[in-house]
Amino acid sequence: MSKFIHVVKGTKDILPQEVEKWHNLEQKALEIFTKYGYKEIRTPIFEVTELFARGVGDTTDIVNKEMYTFEKNDRSLTLRPENTAGVVRSFIENGMSRLSAPVKLWYKGPMFRYERPQAGRQRQFHQVGVELFGIKQPAADAEVILLAVNYLKSLGLNDLEVEINSLGCPQCREEYKKRIKEVLKPEFDNLCEDCQNRYEKNPLRLLDCKVESCKAIFEKPEIKKVIQSDFICDECAQHFNDVKSYLDKMNIKYVVNKLLVRGLDYYNRTVFEIKSNNLGSQNAVCGGGRYDSLVRNLGGEDTPAVGWAMGMERLNSLIPDIEEKRLDAYIVSNSSIDAFELAEELRAEGFNVEFDLSNKKFTKQLEKASKVAKYALILGEEEIDKGQVSVKNLDTSVQETIDRKNLRSKLQNDKNS
Ligand code: ATP
Ligand code: MG
Repeated sequence: MSKFIHVVKGTKDILPQEVEKWHNLEQKALEIFTKYGYKEIRTPIFEVTELFARGVGDTTDIVNKEMYTFEKNDRSLTLRPENTAGVVRSFIENGMSRLSAPVKLWYKGPMFRYERPQAGRQRQFHQVGVELFGIKQPAADAEVILLAVNYLKSLGLNDLEVEINSLGCPQCREEYKKRIKEVLKPEFDNLCEDCQNRYEKNPLRLLDCKVESCKAIFEKPEIKKVIQSDFICDECAQHFNDVKSYLDKMNIKYVVNKLLVRGLDYYNRTVFEIKSNNLGSQNAVCGGGRYDSLVRNLGGEDTPAVGWAMGMERLNSLIPDIEEKRLDAYIVSNSSIDAFELAEELRAEGFNVEFDLSNKKFTKQLEKASKVAKYALILGEEEIDKGQVSVKNLDTSVQETIDRKNLRSKLQNDKNS
């Protein structure tokens, strides 16, 4: 035997017995997002590396440590670590700014990040997300948050916590960054290595640090006071208040978390996360926010935008397993050509039907039927001669012989009941 080759660390097969949970996530996404006017977009899984360097930001962990980058013909390409940059590229490239605003898009698919694999963290994982382009007003922020909550509700997830914050605009944020740096300066040597590196380049990101010793520093009263202080300008404050009052009116519960800054560089004003208490340490299912400068940074016209992404593996781990669907019927017969014909007839009428392709014994076929189907349809010689079929309900074991022309309504009644 040849040497066996395993799946790559941090990646997983989605097996047939799990796939209905994925269909469920995807079907609900299509259903709910369509209600709000979002259209699906599918962009390539790899893009030119520079798109992510500029679009995600070169001070982020994603760009610095986590990208799967490879060379082909002297071009540096990268497997997408997230899909906002790709969607924005496509928005610009396909002239979508000429469409009347808002342009509402959604996507789903695999993303790739070289992170340490653990519960809730993979190297190939899946996201479903939405992006709304062209609206600067707070109603857009509120709509995408409402959409996220309603999508989660449609999946039966009602008790998740929405956290929101405002990062202000580049102008008011400068002053805040300065104050954060000042108050943390005496603690510099006590910060973790990552935080020391971020201190100059992107001091806001420190607040996001998950290292306990850093978190303890941010809890010190004089430091906490600066972190919690209101720094945003009047316009940004007005925007944030409006977002909150929309959410209040829509009965969306949320908490304001001043430490919420999000991992990506491009956000301004509203940022939010949705968390679950049932996920252990990787507890965020959804992250998003407003990114008014990204379209311009990637070479498009100034276009405000807001969006979010959810981790589909994390969503699925919160949803109970779905029982595998049984076939409507399994045909048991010694004549495979008759079984073939009946199966095709029923399939054409919309039923899910299988039969034995390998001429197994009658009893073996019946055994198989009782494992995979609701009904066994027995086609013995006598039934075939008389144009009949014996229908055995595999839950109750009740069996009756009926004319073939009545078979459809028999199965149909059961399907509808
Ligand atoms: P986290 O704090 O969990 O690392 P993040 O801020 O890096 O999340 P985003 O880039 O905003 O996450 O992605 C949105 C969502 O995608 C996350 O809330 C999470 O549910 C999911 N996600 C992110 N990275 C992974 C991963 N490596 N494996 C599985 N799911 C992930
Ligand atoms: Mg992350």
